[in-house]
Amino acid sequence: MNSSQRLLVIGAGPGGYSAAFNAADRGFNVTLVDRDPFLGGTCLSKGCIPSKALLHTAEVLREAQEAAKMGITFSQPHIDLDKLRTWKNNILSRLTSGLDQLCKQRKINFIRGTAKLTGSHEAAITTPDGSTIQIAFDLAILATGTTPVTLPLLPSSPRVWDSTSALSLPCIPPSLLVIGGGYIGLELGSVYSALGTKVTVVESLPQLLNGPDRDLADILARCLKKEFHSILTGTRAIRAEEVPEGIRVVLSNSQGKELSETYSHVLAAVGRRPQTCGLGLENTAIKTDARGFILVDKNNRTHEEGIFAIGDVAGNPLLAHKASFEAGKVIRIMAGLPCAPEEPTIPSVIFTRTQLAWAGLTEQSAKQNNIPVTVSRFPWAANGRALTMNRPEGVTKIIADPDNRRILGVGIIGAGAGELIAEGVLAIDTKMTADQLALAVHPHPTTAETLMEAAGNLWGAATVKPKTGRA
Ligand SMILES: Cc1cc2nc3c(=O)[nH]c(=O)nc-3n(C[C@H](O)[C@H](O)[C@H](O)COP(=O)(O)OP(=O)(O)OC[C@H]3O[C@@H](n4cnc5c(N)ncnc54)[C@H](O)[C@@H]3O)c2cc1C
Repeated sequence: MNSSQRLLVIGAGPGGYSAAFNAADRGFNVTLVDRDPFLGGTCLSKGCIPSKALLHTAEVLREAQEAAKMGITFSQPHIDLDKLRTWKNNILSRLTSGLDQLCKQRKINFIRGTAKLTGSHEAAITTPDGSTIQIAFDLAILATGTTPVTLPLLPSSPRVWDSTSALSLPCIPPSLLVIGGGYIGLELGSVYSALGTKVTVVESLPQLLNGPDRDLADILARCLKKEFHSILTGTRAIRAEEVPEGIRVVLSNSQGKELSETYSHVLAAVGRRPQTCGLGLENTAIKTDARGFILVDKNNRTHEEGIFAIGDVAGNPLLAHKASFEAGKVIRIMAGLPCAPEEPTIPSVIFTRTQLAWAGLTEQSAKQNNIPVTVSRFPWAANGRALTMNRPEGVTKIIADPDNRRILGVGIIGAGAGELIAEGVLAIDTKMTADQLALAVHPHPTTAETLMEAAGNLWGAATVKPKTGRA
């Protein structure tokens, strides 16, 4: 390993800053560039963290409403939007200043500016004052992330939001149309509906969410139907115009029936596109796919020797923990260290009030690929902790190999599923069997016991005997 090599990292999101920190710890001479003044990328300033801060406030509001069932009533909440915005922004400042300190401690050369590759070993960085810095590098990592896809049919108006503007909390609109029933649309829709907005979600596909198993996604859809004004699946927004009262949108359903409705605000949450424009890829051998995502091999190497791409810009899944995992992997490769022989499991979580989390093989992808599996579903209505939390709607599902009961996939819907899925990831990646998981003593009363029970059911040792079956 020649660790004094000059490494250029473009983009300081979870992919880029993790790579830069990791490389500096291994003795590389690291330059990190971002056009934003702060480290943290989309995740920290316009993604994971602000959305989860607001989802927490949504949870507090919903819990207060739900407490009426337990005989506790609160008066109508007063929402001080300025204070809420400040509270959220303070979390972001705290995290960005922490990253800034970690960057300085490692003596990483952080340059604020827009980077463009000018060759296979050089880049030009344009700083905010308009000057250009030329950088020569031995190795480079592209971690430039994604930005929201815009919908050309929507007018340019402060009433039309993308996820970034929605997270800046400009106001609490009386009504909001969310275009796109993916996790970003559902999470932000939940926030505004808890704040008091009448939220409509429109999704062109016949159902919400494609990744998780249908039975779990359907439970989430049922929960969200209670929170939202309406969810229109199989429906597309086809025209829109600004009118004095808001944005008038024409929706068309799968039968071609049109409906015209005026919403105070519209949030477009229809996907993300890679940030490669102006990156100078044409000055290298790097190739992209039809949507512009950088093509990489399983070790995140691009078609240009010595240049790697990680995180969102290298394609699905567009998740922060995938970006930081790839950062660690690439630095190990650059440092000549061995990598894990197998790709790890990347979990997905939808952080709505009833959370949906899944990892590894789903039952539907097992069916599509003719993989024989045995499936156990444990209903949270039979879990003491879920009942004490007044949250019986959950289900924990384990998908296992029918021959040796090895755990291949886990899906969880319920309060705090995002925390619980970590145990599922560990079980899958360590090739744990359902028997081993069932034998691990879980604290009582917790919703984590549902994993033990679902596993026990596959082993024939469950306290409660829910449905199990071969798929
Ligand atoms: C609303 C929302 C909620 C989300 N919630 C979650 C969640 O709960 N969990 C999760 O795992 N993921 C979540 N994500 C996704 C997550 O934010 C991304 O997967 C993650 O940020 C990707 O990291 P990255 O390092 O690849 O890129 P990014 O975080 O996008 O960082 C890229 C950086 O590159 C910089 N850049 C781009 N081009 C250049 C250039 N030419 N020169 C210099 N700098 C450049 C950008 O300024 C940016 O700072 C969410 C996203 C959104 C929008």
